[in-house]
Amino acid sequence: MAVRDLKIRWWIPLVAVAAAWLLALSGNCAAQSIGFPNAAVRDSLSKFSSDSIEHLVCLDGRAIGDTVYFDAMRIPEQQASAHGVTVQGTHTGCGSALAVWHNHPKQAGETAEMGLYFSSSDQNTFLRYEEALFAIVGVDGAMCLWTRRQVHAGWLLNLTPLPPIEKQCWQTH
Ligand SMILES: [Zn+2]
Repeated sequence: MAVRDLKIRWWIPLVAVAAAWLLALSGNCAAQSIGFPNAAVRDSLSKFSSDSIEHLVCLDGRAIGDTVYFDAMRIPEQQASAHGVTVQGTHTGCGSALAVWHNHPKQAGETAEMGLYFSSSDQNTFLRYEEALFAIVGVDGAMCLWTRRQVHAGWLLNLTPLPPIEKQCWQTH
């Protein structure tokens, strides 16, 4: 889950078009809101999202209508490398988790919004090695969610990095 393409900004004008595309493609699978019945989960994610190193968290929960509730979390075995954090053994690191969450450490002089994207390696790792329905990136108290279908659509459209999707980003603190 590399953060190397953080400084790539050429796609910003494409965000609106891409979001419209992906929303159209996502049908009613999109999550319009998220809930944290267990405040400790929300607080942990909020803390991790502001850290200077990358964390990967498996989130368990349930989707009811267009709301996704995350009530438990697991930290998989992971290893750090020059390219970021990967799950040990890579295959299905989060198993049957509902979502795979990771943070993009905020770089000096950048806003949280600048780190809220799903990089090409994020997309590749998620599609290839994870089974979860949702992918989430957190940056400094903010988080954005993509559905598996949206990640797949973005990959097919070469939207790398994948921009945030309207109404699928929230503040956690
Ligand atoms: Zn990433």
